[in-house]
Amino acid sequence: KLKKQQLYYEVNKLAGRFFYNNLVQRKNPALEYILKRGLTTRTIKSFGLGYALNNWDDLLNHLKKEGYKEEEIEKCGLIIKNKQKDGYYNRFRNRIMFPIFDIRGNVIGFGGRVLDDSLPKYLNSPETAYFNKSETLYGLNIARKNCENGQVVLVEGYMDVIALHQQGFKNVVATLGTSLTKGHGLLLKKYFDQIILCFDGDSAGTKATLRSLELLQNVHKNIKIILLPKGVDPDDFIKKEGKNAFQRKINEAVSAIDYKIYLAQQKYSLNTMEDQINLGKEIASIIKEIDSPIEQEAYIKKIEEKTGISKDAITREVYGRKPATD
Ligand code: ATP
Ligand code: MN
Ligand code: MN
Ligand code: MN
Repeated sequence: KLKKQQLYYEVNKLAGRFFYNNLVQRKNPALEYILKRGLTTRTIKSFGLGYALNNWDDLLNHLKKEGYKEEEIEKCGLIIKNKQKDGYYNRFRNRIMFPIFDIRGNVIGFGGRVLDDSLPKYLNSPETAYFNKSETLYGLNIARKNCENGQVVLVEGYMDVIALHQQGFKNVVATLGTSLTKGHGLLLKKYFDQIILCFDGDSAGTKATLRSLELLQNVHKNIKIILLPKGVDPDDFIKKEGKNAFQRKINEAVSAIDYKIYLAQQKYSLNTMEDQINLGKEIASIIKEIDSPIEQEAYIKKIEEKTGISKDAITREVYGRKPATD
């Protein structure tokens, strides 16, 4: 058992080195692409990025030469058995490779990105006994050693983690293209005191934020949210606005309640009385979720200032029209 695990790490590490050498040893379109996206050679090295050539069996042959059997390499997720004829072929072809590390720094899998707009944009290693996507966070091996005041920033993508890291934000992790799980939540709880959600500024990002809040709220009390402009992800943002702007985003990250109230406000134009009523009701239902009466009170005050709906009306709406102090 232990031997199998050792082999899994060894083979994936060799593959990572193979992809890395492909990327850095000679001029190639993957390197051009990565440099054009603003990553430095230093970043390429520290994340061990690589290039899977447009080739059906170079990695396969390399690993065979290193003494591994085809069945073993297949179990490592790197090659696929041919359905029609005998033999195997490389799973990853013509992709930029992102090695995925466990907490101890072992390579447990890869994400691979195409160099153009073809689909699927990303391809990941298959799940194995040693690679469980719902319990792996990209960047965790780095972030856990680099979190100032216990903060971690949770983003969607590999490129987001890497771009932020390059600008000095080393406390960043991402899920591997899956939605956040309870396992992820427990990991975050184990290593960090505060989670800052920073998903893409699109409807998928908003949905993922709400889902993650739902999932995390039982595990983790200290969660904040960064709002990014429409159509922008953390990688785009920091490239365009710079690191000071991102630091400001962190400093100005809002609470879950503020985030939900903000979304509610976005939903209504407030030109009609109906809109105003519906917004008030929606906000009341958000405030209902808050456990602490003191916190509720504070938000109710804030909403009165923001919307002009009286404290008294919100309070009655929240408590189902009965005063709370009866
Ligand atoms: P890029 O900037 O290179 O386009 P991205 O990280 O912004 O990448 P998104 O489309 O925002 O890409 O997706 C976020 C993350 O979701 C990716 O980093 C990847 O982990 C995962 N992902 C995206 N598309 C797929 C896919 N087809 N299969 C598996 N995972 C995917
Ligand atoms: Mn996205
Ligand atoms: Mn994105
Ligand atoms: Mn992106």
